[in-house]
Amino acid sequence: MSKAPEENLACESSEKSDYDLWMKSWWYDTRIRMVVGGLCFIGVMGAYLIAAIEEGEYGILAFIAIGIVVLIPLERLMPRHSMSILRPQLLTDILHIVFTNFLGILPLIFLFPLLEFLRSDTLVEIIQSQPQWLQIVEALFLTEFLIYWGHRITHVVPVLWRFHSVHHSVAYLDWWAGERRHPIDGYFMVLFTGIPLLITGFNLTDLLIVGLFNGLWDMTIHANLGWRLKFMDRIWVTTEYHHWHHSLDKEARDKNYAGALPIMDILFGTYHLPDDRSPGPYGIDTHMPSTYVGQLIQPFKATQYTR
Ligand SMILES: [Zn+2]
Ligand SMILES: [Zn+2]
Repeated sequence: MSKAPEENLACESSEKSDYDLWMKSWWYDTRIRMVVGGLCFIGVMGAYLIAAIEEGEYGILAFIAIGIVVLIPLERLMPRHSMSILRPQLLTDILHIVFTNFLGILPLIFLFPLLEFLRSDTLVEIIQSQPQWLQIVEALFLTEFLIYWGHRITHVVPVLWRFHSVHHSVAYLDWWAGERRHPIDGYFMVLFTGIPLLITGFNLTDLLIVGLFNGLWDMTIHANLGWRLKFMDRIWVTTEYHHWHHSLDKEARDKNYAGALPIMDILFGTYHLPDDRSPGPYGIDTHMPSTYVGQLIQPFKATQYTR
């Protein structure tokens, strides 16, 4: 689907007038933005460091460290597309990693303890009486089923696509880009996948094993890596597999929703992995601001969204 030319024009002119208004505001002064942005950045990074030191919570720091030590050299060695490490909108995506991750843990801390009452004792007993390897396999398949449908819904329901389109707006896919996500898109996925998992009562360790492995591999699926790993095509989601999900190619739209297991796309008719072509270019048809704050605000604007 692509937009009619007049819609494009309408969208651009309203963007322009908003932008002009912003530019004239007293708070848009470069020095004020630098001070406010700098204070927020120092505040959030400080909070991460304190959490890391006091709670042993090294998640975000480990993510950035693995990316810098492992993925940047890999992207240099075998790039999929030729692009600079300092590609456009890199700072925007770094801000997504730092702030959206911080916002993303809030519902886990405050909401999930309140939902404990949903847990079914009978189900918990049945599930936890099985061997651990079976529980891990079941947790993986259930998580993947939920990720598949949660993700597919964000493409189909217009109001959810507004928020998910932030993730798809990246034109330069690399390991940083995967973390570009609107917090409301993130909350939706956390609730959609988290609540059924909470009800079924899978052992937290099993979910962590699945989550940790998936999380590490996930760092490679957006990366600018030229490897094809054809033997994994129908077994596990690869870089090429997920890059097709981001492709602007008409045939690739609304395909390859799976987070880790291609079997979900095969089962539900959305598998797309042609042998004779490579994915790209990437992005969306509609306007998305290049700044972090602009991307947080954009889904709330009365703009025409299409996919
Ligand atoms: Zn998507
Ligand atoms: Zn993605």
